[in-house]
Amino acid sequence: MKKREIFKVEGDKIVRLRRNCPKCGDGVFLADHKDRLSCGACGYTEFKSKKPEKPVEQPKEEQPVVSESSTPSEKPKEEKK
Ligand SMILES: [Zn+2]
Repeated sequence: MKKREIFKVEGDKIVRLRRNCPKCGDGVFLADHKDRLSCGACGYTEFKSKKPEKPVEQPKEEQPVVSESSTPSEKPKEEKK
């Protein structure tokens, strides 16, 4: 499985083409961050999405909600007056 490369890899460096800020237009380039591009002028941020099909945000592993025994909310009252 080979992805379409959008980066040009030279040794350990990844050389990529600069992108213009869609808001500021030509002349303003987006700063290249680890996982995103950002514009220093207007604050525009564009996340690098290798897989456009999936959203960038990945759901964290959610732990199953365990009812706390220390705080019984629905406990049948045995005491009856
Ligand atoms: Zn901008």
